[in-house]
Amino acid sequence: MSSKIPPLSYRQLPAFFFRDVDGAEFETPEAVAINFPLGKRLGLTSDWLTSKAGQDVLSGRSAIGGGSALAMTYGGHQFGQWSGMLGDGRARLVGEVQDAEGAVHELHLKGAGLTPFSRGGDGKATLGSAIREYIVSEAMAALGVPTTRALSVVTTGETIIRKGAEPAAILCRSARSHIRVGTFQIAAAAGDNGDVKALADFAIDRLYPDAPAVGPARYSYFLRQVIAAQARLVATWMGFGFIHGVMNTDNATISGETIDYGPCAFMDEFHPGKVFSSIDRNGRYAWNKQPEMAHWNMVRLAESLLLLLGETAEAQQSTAEVELDRFAPAFSEDLNRIMARKLGVQDSVLSSSDFLAATIDAMTVGQVDYTLFFRALTRLANGGDADALLSEFNDTEQGAAWLESWKAITEFDGRLSEPIVAQMRQANPIYIPRNHRVEDAIADANTGNLDSFKTLMEVVTQPFTERAEFAEYENPPRPDEIVRQTFC
Ligand code: AMP
Ligand code: MG
Ligand code: MG
Repeated sequence: MSSKIPPLSYRQLPAFFFRDVDGAEFETPEAVAINFPLGKRLGLTSDWLTSKAGQDVLSGRSAIGGGSALAMTYGGHQFGQWSGMLGDGRARLVGEVQDAEGAVHELHLKGAGLTPFSRGGDGKATLGSAIREYIVSEAMAALGVPTTRALSVVTTGETIIRKGAEPAAILCRSARSHIRVGTFQIAAAAGDNGDVKALADFAIDRLYPDAPAVGPARYSYFLRQVIAAQARLVATWMGFGFIHGVMNTDNATISGETIDYGPCAFMDEFHPGKVFSSIDRNGRYAWNKQPEMAHWNMVRLAESLLLLLGETAEAQQSTAEVELDRFAPAFSEDLNRIMARKLGVQDSVLSSSDFLAATIDAMTVGQVDYTLFFRALTRLANGGDADALLSEFNDTEQGAAWLESWKAITEFDGRLSEPIVAQMRQANPIYIPRNHRVEDAIADANTGNLDSFKTLMEVVTQPFTERAEFAEYENPPRPDEIVRQTFC
């Protein structure tokens, strides 16, 4: 297999964009999870993944095809403040692979140790953080959300101190690209527009090859595609009740893939202003602020690309504004389409009325469980009774009033048509990785027991298929199980 693997094409970029990283040497690395179906998609056979060569790559000892791994250069705004240079301080690019359609995917390790960007850190990651990312990113992929994928978790045999002493591990994830808004920002901040252009050309060739070949139209096309991809991504998150938690510009990909599963969470009880992240004290990245924050990140991208967007300062500015103005309508259209499918109504109902806002209000006042609300509505739409839906509301009369408005809009006569019900089923998952389940899987993994992790993976990777044996995984947490904060 390895003879077909191209060398890291990231090395074609100017030297500014990466640093070589020494291979890691862990005495007792052990693969505790390998995603064989993903490996197969990426052209990595089970034989290779379990071979010495494969294990050496997944544990950070070597890069695919020989040569050294590299750490990517990037900067970023963190919680609205410019942090300057960040870079891969605990991550490294170890290979590029091609899927059956010829698309390139990067393999990136998190937690394999020091890089030239580690600053005061140790370059390591906890098993808990690797397990969390593995579960949530694979659940997202199964839900159809653009995302990095999880290929493997390898424990290193070390113990590191975080919240306490915890086992350390290395996650291998794949992405179409790990280039972030912050990669463009750091090149622009360094003042070398040739580097910005080289990065844009590389990103366009990899991700948006239909762009015009040269000139300002090439880069405005690129900006437009990234804006559309980010608008769609955030709308998709919101449709599943997902809160990313750290939408800093170093965590905003230009591919529109979800990246960096730190303090993220799916909501149980709905509130539009909900925040989980322990480090998000001002609620900057709350559920309902995500579109505004994605737009803010796109303004930072436009600023970084500015000199490429036109021949004159005036042309550059007006092109940036035109493209940025596309974010809000694109987001609204995406959100309306997604929510219409969840609610079993026509897109035009949501774009021409305040029904979506009224629904969000009703869900907020009723303190419904986000996932169970739509699950119960899907069953009702399919001829079931209203009890499960009404019981989601603290006040059934308030729920009944909302339900009457839904019935009027859908002209409900006891059941919706089969195609609409089928759409609702595909839009409304039965199983999501609820926080308390993720925390249980992590706690067990930390004691060496991977059973709950494996079961949870089985549940969340088929989110739309009802399976009686997993019925309890639909349930929200009991009061004593509620997770109120998540950590990086
Ligand atoms: P993140 O919170 O993963 O988005 O990371 C923000 C920045 O902190 C990036 O530059 C990371 O490489 C760096 N960083 C986070 N944890 C560590 C660590 N344990 N060692 C070195 N750098 C780290
Ligand atoms: Mg990050
Ligand atoms: Mg993180």
